[in-house]
Amino acid sequence: MNQWNYKPFWEETYKQLKKKLNESEITLWIDALSYYDSKENIIVFSVGTPFIRDQIAQKYQRLIEDTFLEISDMNISLEFVVISKNIQTTQEKKLPPVKPSSPETQKKIKKNHPNLNKNYTFDNFIVGDNNDYAANAAQVITKNLGKNYNPFLIYGGVGLGKTHLMQAIGHEIWNNTNLTVIYVTAESFTNEFISSLKQKKVMGFKNKYRSADVLLIDDIHFFQGKEGVQEELFHTFNTLYESERQIVFTCDRNPSDLKSLSSRLKSRFERGLNIDLKTPKYETRCAILIKKLENSPILIPQDVINLVAQNISSNVRDLEAAMTKLIAFAEIKNKPMTIEIAKDLLRDTFGSTRQHNISVQSIQKIVANYFDISLSDIRGKKRTKSITFPRHIAMYLSREMTENSTTELGIEFGGKDHSTILNGYQKISERILAEPSLEVTITELKKIIMDNYDK
Ligand code: ADP
Ligand code: MG
Repeated sequence: MNQWNYKPFWEETYKQLKKKLNESEITLWIDALSYYDSKENIIVFSVGTPFIRDQIAQKYQRLIEDTFLEISDMNISLEFVVISKNIQTTQEKKLPPVKPSSPETQKKIKKNHPNLNKNYTFDNFIVGDNNDYAANAAQVITKNLGKNYNPFLIYGGVGLGKTHLMQAIGHEIWNNTNLTVIYVTAESFTNEFISSLKQKKVMGFKNKYRSADVLLIDDIHFFQGKEGVQEELFHTFNTLYESERQIVFTCDRNPSDLKSLSSRLKSRFERGLNIDLKTPKYETRCAILIKKLENSPILIPQDVINLVAQNISSNVRDLEAAMTKLIAFAEIKNKPMTIEIAKDLLRDTFGSTRQHNISVQSIQKIVANYFDISLSDIRGKKRTKSITFPRHIAMYLSREMTENSTTELGIEFGGKDHSTILNGYQKISERILAEPSLEVTITELKKIIMDNYDK
C-alpha cells in the first residue's frame, strides 16, 4: 500500500478553493481535476486533456500549492496525468454496438465532416487570456456532452474566433464518436426553414434538426426579428435539451442584449454557460500569426510579424487578412518580405476604423452623450429636430464604423425599417458636403469612439 495519502488534504483544499475562487472557475477548472495518487510530497491529479493540464498548471498550480501549505503545513507539489475519459452519459447508450473489427479497419480515419472547415480545430486554436475560459469550456463540453453546460453560448465581436471554436467542438466530437453533429448558421437554418414551408416539407426539416446529437448554430443574433423561425427553434431547442443533447450557439453580443427575440427563447439561450471572447493581447496576436505561418510557403521575418501584431489589435480575421496580403505579395513578386514593404502594403489596413470591434450601442451612447440627449431618444421615435439630428448622426456613424447591415441597424435603433437607417445616413452624407463644420463634428465623434475602443 502507498504510504502517502494526501487525499484528505485535497478535500480540505478544495473547500478552501471554493471560498477563494468564483463558481465558474471552480466548475470549469478545479472540477476538471480528479485525485489520482500521492507520492512523497506530491499529489497527482488526473485531467482529461493536455490542454486542461496546461491551463490549470498555468493558472492555478501556485494557488493550489499555497492552499495545501496553509492547511497541511507541508510543501506538496502538483503533478498531472492525462487520462481522457470516454464520452459517457446518454450519448453512450445511443452508440451502435461496437463491431469486432480487424486491426486495419480499426485505424480507419473518418471522413471530414461535410460542413466543418477542416482548419477550425482545437490544435489550430491559440489560447490566450482573451479566450482561455471559452477554449477550456469548449474542451470540457466535448467530454461531458449535454450535461453541465447546455447550451454553451460563445459570444463576442467579429473575427474573434467564435466560429472556429464552435467548429472545433464539432470536429472533436465527430472524430471521436459516431454521434450526429450538425453545424448550421442561423441564416441557413432560417432559409432552410422557410423553403421547407414553401415546399411543404416541414416535417423533414423538424426531423433533421431534432435528431441531431449535437447541434451547433452559428450567429444567432440573425434570429432577431424573425418570429416564425424563433418559434421553430424554440421547439427544436426543447426537444434536444430535454434529451440531454448538446447545443452550442454563437452570438455577436451578450444574449441579454439581443432585441426582437421572444423572451422564452432568450431565457433558453442564457440557461447554460455563456462565455465571451475578447480581443487578443499583443503576445497572443503574435502567436496566432506564427501559427498561421507554419504552413506558409514564404518566410516572414519576426519584425514584420511584430509590426502586424502591433498595428492590428482588435480582431483575428483582420490580422490573418493582413498576413495573407503580405504572403501573396511576396509570392507573386518573388521577393523577400521586409518591414518597409509591409508598412507600405498595409498602410490602409492600419488606418482603417473597421478593424476595431465597435458596437452600435457604444456609438449610440457616445452620440447621445455628445448632444446631451438620452439613449432612449437616440433609439426612439421622437421627431423634434434636437433629437432627429443626433439620431441621424448615430445612424450614419453606425453604418460607417460597424459591419452591420441596415436591417440589423434598424433593430438596434428600436426596431426601425432598414429604409429609415438609409435615409438618416443619406441626410448626414449630404449635409457633410454642404457644411464643413459638420464634418469636423463627425471626425471628432469618430475619434471619441475610437479612443473609447483603444483603451
Ligand atoms: P468569428 O466567428 O468570431 O467572427 P472566426 O471564428 O471566423 O471569428 O475567426 C476568424 C479567423 O480568425 C478564422 O480564420 C480563425 O481561424 C482565426 N482565429 C480566431 N481566433 C483564433 C485563435 N485563437 N487562434 C487561431 N486562429 C484564430
Ligand atoms: Mg463567425
